[in-house]
Amino acid sequence: MIFEGLNEKFQNIFSNLKRKGKLSEEDIKAASREIKLALLEADVNFKVVKQFTKAVSERAVGEEVLKSLTPGQQFIKIVNDEMTKLLGGELQKMEFVEQGINIFMMVGLQGAGKTTTAAKIANLLRKEKKFKPLLVACDVYRPAAIDQLEILGKELDIPVYLNKDEKDPRVIAKKALEFAETEGYNLMIIDTAGRLQIDETLMNELVDLKELLEPTEILLVVDGMTGQESVNVADEFNRQLEITGVVLTKLDGDTRGGAALSVTYTTGKTIKYIGTGEKLTDIELFYPDRMANRILGMGDVLSLIDKAQNMIDEEKARALEEKLRTQEFDLNDFLDQMQQLQELGSIGDLMEMMPGVNKKMLKGMNMDAAEGQTKQTEAIIRSMTPEERLKPGIINGSRRKRIALGSGTTVSDVNRMLKGFEQTKKMMKQMGAMQGKAKKGRFKL
Ligand code: GDP
Repeated sequence: MIFEGLNEKFQNIFSNLKRKGKLSEEDIKAASREIKLALLEADVNFKVVKQFTKAVSERAVGEEVLKSLTPGQQFIKIVNDEMTKLLGGELQKMEFVEQGINIFMMVGLQGAGKTTTAAKIANLLRKEKKFKPLLVACDVYRPAAIDQLEILGKELDIPVYLNKDEKDPRVIAKKALEFAETEGYNLMIIDTAGRLQIDETLMNELVDLKELLEPTEILLVVDGMTGQESVNVADEFNRQLEITGVVLTKLDGDTRGGAALSVTYTTGKTIKYIGTGEKLTDIELFYPDRMANRILGMGDVLSLIDKAQNMIDEEKARALEEKLRTQEFDLNDFLDQMQQLQELGSIGDLMEMMPGVNKKMLKGMNMDAAEGQTKQTEAIIRSMTPEERLKPGIINGSRRKRIALGSGTTVSDVNRMLKGFEQTKKMMKQMGAMQGKAKKGRFKL
């Protein structure tokens, strides 16, 4: 779970304060001390911690909290505000050029997630901005990295420019640029070489590439699972290359928060995207306020909505609406709908974005069982004939037995699933009717 340790600690600190009702200056000092410890333990850079707790306690000891009617809430608001500021304030938009080719250079240490992120961004911008992307393999030292980019490109159906015989990344980049110009690509994403540590040859090579390509964005990829040590690295990359933004990866892992909370303060550059999983769709824009909410355990409903909007196929949604109107919703649609929901991520992942949900609560719930149920429904529908899927009414006793056998379930599982389908259908019919009325102005939603 994202920033689990920090999340739990903040929730404890906040619930202690809320219980107290009125707060004294001493209470605020004690809470600030606890915040300081929590952040240091999460491996946040000490300068950042000092500056953050100073800002929080100064504002809190002032009029804002002590005279407030709900001091606990007020304190939380201040922590939330300051954390948003620390994370960069507002969403920083990517730079795009309207004419010509957008060139993004991905830089960072080996294993940070450059190659994966290059593919993720290409895929995202193709979808969102209708860009025509070209991936360029410039990691000449690790043939495996070139192969990896090639595989990702194939998976996404995005072309990859590579030349395994050429050992000079400058030559590859130059040729790739010519290729992009003649072929009409308007987004080029360059995967560069990483090292285990910064070294001079690598840096010189990156500086040369920068001069040659004049990139629109130089994105530093930082492994979110690392602590402040990665931030020193980020600082060095920034000093030599003047990066334009950071991508923080692996936020789905056991992240402590050190890198996320220190990187903007240290480099003065904001995080633009976050990687949240190994799948190629696991990338999100970075909203400092939403991230602060997530770190402090207040949930992130807005990101959840964005995710749903990105994943749900609009054409399918329209077709579904049509079916609702004509009341032809069948088991194929039911299966389709469930698969779209599954695309959104595991139920556990979704729950984590809900306000007030923390790891302890999730522990009490059996997420695997909920997901198992979805898989079972899928298996049952797949064991039906096309006719049965279209007209579930014909599924009699012997058909139920056959379906149960085919899907490795029992007849009562099949019964339960069919009942669930009928309920969904009924509910959707009602929703369809409500929408129809609202459109005619008879019903206010
Ligand atoms: P590079 O050496 O910087 O190019 O890093 P790679 O792109 O090869 O990534 C290293 C490993 O991290 C790979 O196994 C990726 O699948 C994994 N990875 C990258 N981004 C993420 C992420 O956001 N979440 C998770 N869980 N894994 C990631």
